[in-house]
Amino acid sequence: MTPGLVVIGELRDGRPTEASREAAGVAYQLAAGAPVTGLLFGSPEDSLTSSWARDGISEVCFLPPPTDAARQAGALIPGVLSVLSERSAELVLLPSTTFGRELAGGLAARWDAGAATGVTAIHRGAAGWEVRRPVFGGRATETRSLSGPRAVVALRPRAFPAPEPRDLPGASTQRSMPEVGAVAKGPTLVGTEPVLTGEGPALGDATIVVAGGRGVRSADQFHLIEELAAALDAAVGASRAVTDAGWRPTSLQVGQTGRTVTPQLYIAVGISGAIQHIVGMIGSRVIVAINSDASAPIFKVADYGIVGDLFQIVPALLAEIRRVRGR
Ligand SMILES: Cc1cc2nc3c(=O)[nH]c(=O)nc-3n(C[C@H](O)[C@H](O)[C@H](O)COP(=O)(O)OP(=O)(O)OC[C@H]3O[C@@H](n4cnc5c(N)ncnc54)[C@H](O)[C@@H]3O)c2cc1C
Repeated sequence: MTPGLVVIGELRDGRPTEASREAAGVAYQLAAGAPVTGLLFGSPEDSLTSSWARDGISEVCFLPPPTDAARQAGALIPGVLSVLSERSAELVLLPSTTFGRELAGGLAARWDAGAATGVTAIHRGAAGWEVRRPVFGGRATETRSLSGPRAVVALRPRAFPAPEPRDLPGASTQRSMPEVGAVAKGPTLVGTEPVLTGEGPALGDATIVVAGGRGVRSADQFHLIEELAAALDAAVGASRAVTDAGWRPTSLQVGQTGRTVTPQLYIAVGISGAIQHIVGMIGSRVIVAINSDASAPIFKVADYGIVGDLFQIVPALLAEIRRVRGR
């Protein structure tokens, strides 16, 4: 019998996020023709159901979104468990975001399942699901077997291609689940702080990230990084030297004690490439480094390097990008 496969998605601006679409694509491949259930937290909407259906989801279940008082992922677990039990699910896939990782851990514990987060490959092995994921800040990759009948696997965003929209036969069905009264025990949310990200796309979702380091010299000169980012429709990132100096908020920090980003293109400007920075951006598809010191460690991980003064190179790049893009 084909294992029940459930994808838990996240919504942004009323649509499944790219990472949720990627998870749906992986599930569709693994299911090999068997139905895949999608699960969203929100109000049932036909447009949502049909857009996710094109990624390979055959049915979408909607659970009530978390209330303000219990926003944590843990509060959603009882509702998720009821969907898993109705579908005789064996595998749950979800994006390895902050929300997804929190949900994955709590869900696996309550569902008595194996779990893995930050996964970049998955296939059916002899003893169960086998997953691969980077460890030690991307310096090694481990293969892990999730033996046992059930598994919760959080997939690293952008590690899998977004599925090509398919013209799948049959309409997807949607079901509104009843309000689930029981709330899982867990940490209580005591407050939230707005994340200051500035203009442009959010750092965690951006296809392009332009990050500046101490080489930019001062808070006043950091606008060069922001202009380059704006010209490329990119998010702005920063090294810890920049955020420690108070030039820009810590929400822009990339690295071990900041954000982990995996854009298609990461442009590091005036960043030396300390290991604590590298671990936060090494998953980027293409890395470009601009640094005046040819021996800077950032060049060891860069696909393309420009050795020179950023105060000459960035304005020249900006002028050329604006010319090409007609802005
Ligand atoms: C526990 C711990 C956690 C940490 N977490 C993080 C983290 O999350 N993120 C992070 O980034 N760091 C982190 N760090 C700090 C990290 O070790 C580095 O100190 C930091 O990344 C350095 O930032 P930087 O590259 O901007 O500055 P620097 O190392 O000072 O490098 C500046 C670079 O700019 C270049 N430069 C100077 N002038 C120019 C110019 N005109 N044109 C072009 N290039 C120029 C220089 O050649 C140099 O390579 C952490 C450290 C510790 C101990």
